[in-house]
Amino acid sequence: MERYALKKMKSASNSRDLKVLNRLLVLNTIRKNGPIARYEVAKITGLTPPTVTVIVSELMKRGVVKETGAGKSNGGRRPVFLELESSAGFIFAVRLQSGEIMAALMDITGNVLESRYLKLDTEFPEAVVAAIRECLDQFIKRTGTPRERVLWCGVAFPGLIDISQSTVVRSFNLGWNKAPLGEMLSHSLSGIRVHIENISNAAALGEKVYGSGRGLPDLMYLNLSVGIGAGIILNHQVYNGTQGYAGEVGHMTLAPETGPQCLCGRYGCFEAFCGIRAVLERIKTEAPPECFEEWGVAKHRLGFDDLSIPFIRESPHVKAILADVENYIGIAIANLVSLFNIPLVILGGEMVGVLSLNAINEKVKARLFPEIGETVRVVGSVMREDPPLMGVYALVLEKVFASDQWL
Ligand SMILES: [Zn+2]
Repeated sequence: MERYALKKMKSASNSRDLKVLNRLLVLNTIRKNGPIARYEVAKITGLTPPTVTVIVSELMKRGVVKETGAGKSNGGRRPVFLELESSAGFIFAVRLQSGEIMAALMDITGNVLESRYLKLDTEFPEAVVAAIRECLDQFIKRTGTPRERVLWCGVAFPGLIDISQSTVVRSFNLGWNKAPLGEMLSHSLSGIRVHIENISNAAALGEKVYGSGRGLPDLMYLNLSVGIGAGIILNHQVYNGTQGYAGEVGHMTLAPETGPQCLCGRYGCFEAFCGIRAVLERIKTEAPPECFEEWGVAKHRLGFDDLSIPFIRESPHVKAILADVENYIGIAIANLVSLFNIPLVILGGEMVGVLSLNAINEKVKARLFPEIGETVRVVGSVMREDPPLMGVYALVLEKVFASDQWL
């Protein structure tokens, strides 16, 4: 008797699981292929047309799917198309870096409802979390979005992240050590689920889904900013490594003890040659005093923005230092490409604006076997949107559509 009851319960739970799976299958088919007719959904999913009709009615009743204009007829009745209802759910995406926040409220079909760039004068985790919360509060107020419809928060963050715990293990950039950012944020954002992702991984994914990496199984995004990091996509997936720390290329050694000292304490790191802070320091040390007089900039006040002024950037001392930076970037990229045989390297971060992509491509090819070098392209990011922000959105969106709990 007992065994019979158990068996019955098991089959009930199996049929419920199957129902959930079928619902997710139909929902994701509409998401990825919409606008799409019901009979096409049946064809793609392998479900019977009546089953699709029942599931679609249910999804429409829940406000997740809607009918849109009738399509072209092949002689018979004109099919009605289905697509996602954009207001069914929202995602709060954040890029957090030292001194700045970029945040956006987006719907599940990729529309940006509101976005905001915020300068931060604090790096205390509690204050940063409060600033992020204020962004969301403002978005909700301005757009009239129901708070309970904001399903997930995704954060792109520079540093070592324990993805499973949403904890920042370490960030030189913000000086954080073992900060439970996910938990703090979730608590502050009224219990919304939070996912923290390394900023370069997020950017690589953003390029893969929305940028110049569309359709490519393998690519690398190299972020050249104050810090340097890479996001590596292999076989369509972000490559995380054993601990999730893959892509920390800013601290790979390009020169032994003779190289400049890095923030991490070691010598000759990639970042110590090519990070913004390192490049500015080098110009301040190597350019003679008359250069600064000529530029009209006090030595201690030289900032990265000054390098965007052509007569400063083109002056012989700065030009020579930037050529050296291009050479080191070329060495680093050639090493990484040798390792993974990646055909596309996308450069992001402020440094790209003052460097020559042609020079970098030449340096890369010069250090690779011609068979490999011929296939490699190093390009600047041309995404109109923010790659890390879009990447973390894409990542969290997959989490939303992997479960039906929000329906
Ligand atoms: Zn280092």
